[in-house]
Amino acid sequence: MSHRGTLLRGACIGLGTVAALAACRTPVEQLPVTPIQRPVEAPCCEGAPDGLHLEYLGVGGWLIRHGESALLTAPFFSNPGMLDVALGRIETDTALVDTFLPPVEDVSAILVGHGHYDHLLDVPYIARVRAPSARVYGSLSTIHTLTGDPELDPGRLVSVEDQAGDAGAAGEWIEVEGGSIRFMALRSEHAPHYMELNLFAGHHVEPLEGLPDRASGWLEGQTLAFLIDLLGPDGEPVYRIHYQDAAAEPPAGFPPRLPDRKGVDLMIVCVPGAEQVNGYPEAIVGHLAPRRVILGHWEDFFRPRTEGLRLSPGTDIDAFIRRVEGALPEGGEWIMPLPGLISTGPVRTCESC
Ligand SMILES: [Zn+2]
Ligand SMILES: [Zn+2]
Repeated sequence: MSHRGTLLRGACIGLGTVAALAACRTPVEQLPVTPIQRPVEAPCCEGAPDGLHLEYLGVGGWLIRHGESALLTAPFFSNPGMLDVALGRIETDTALVDTFLPPVEDVSAILVGHGHYDHLLDVPYIARVRAPSARVYGSLSTIHTLTGDPELDPGRLVSVEDQAGDAGAAGEWIEVEGGSIRFMALRSEHAPHYMELNLFAGHHVEPLEGLPDRASGWLEGQTLAFLIDLLGPDGEPVYRIHYQDAAAEPPAGFPPRLPDRKGVDLMIVCVPGAEQVNGYPEAIVGHLAPRRVILGHWEDFFRPRTEGLRLSPGTDIDAFIRRVEGALPEGGEWIMPLPGLISTGPVRTCESC
C-alpha cells in the first residue's frame, strides 16, 4: 500500500523568473514529509539486512552504513543564496557543514553523481576534515575539479567514468573498505534546469589549479547514477539500492541486466528537474519495480537549513508523487524524508516484525 501523504496543492510550476521562483516556495509544514524517524526498510522478511543505517543528509547527501563499511553520497550544507549563485562568489560554510553533518570519520567512500556546486562544493572540506580517509569517486570532470584543492591528496580522487555501465553493459563493481558495501557507477544524464536550459553544463578537461569560486565554475561533467549493494558475509548482495542525484530521461541511469538477476530493493530518486524531461521518474521506477522509493533533493537549497526547510523552488511535488505512485509495484511504498530524520540506527529485526 502506498504511503498517502497530504499532498500539496497549487505547486509552483511554470514560473519564469528568479523573483517569481523566490516568491513561490512551500514551507515544510505543507509537505508530505515523513515526520518521524522510521526504518527505511521493513523488517528482514522483506529482505533488508540487519544493521543498515541510511540517513538523509539533504540535497544529494546520504549516509549509508552496513557491516564494516560506511559510504557517503556527496552531501551539501552551505546553501548560498540565489543571488550569490547567480552573480557572486560561493564557498563552503564550514560551520554549517559541522552543524548538520553527523560524525563520518569511518566513511571510506564518497560518491559524487555530478559536479554542480550543490553536489561538490562541500566535498573538499568534508574529505579533508570530516572523512579524512575517504576516497572520492566521480566523473573525470569532477576529479579534475577537486584536484584544484591543493590540500586534498590526489591519490584519494578516483574517476569511475571509464568503469561506468549503462542499460546495455555492466560496469565495474568497486568494493568499499570493510567489504560490506560495493557500488557500480552508471552513465546517466541531468535534466535541464528550466526550459531546456542546463546551467553549468560541460566538463573540465584538465585538472584545475584552484577550486572554482563561482557557481558557474562547478561544471556538471558526466552525470552518474549508482547501484549500491549491501553485501552479506559471503560477499553476495543482500540488498540493492539505486541512487540518482539528477532527474534523467530514460533510459539514462538504467542499470544493465546483471548475471545475479538481483532486483533493486530501494530507489533514491531526485525530485527537481523531473518536469523538464519525459518519463522521470515513472519509467525507471516502473522498470526497476523496487519495494521502496525515497524522494531526495526536494528541499530549497538556496537558503541555510538553520532558516528552516521548504520545497525547492519551481517543484511540482504533487505531480512527482503521482508519477511515483503510478509506477510503483503492488505493495510498493514511497517516503519523502526530512533531512537528518529518515533512519538512524539499525532496521528492526525479525523479533520486532
Ligand atoms: Zn545539478
Ligand atoms: Zn542538484
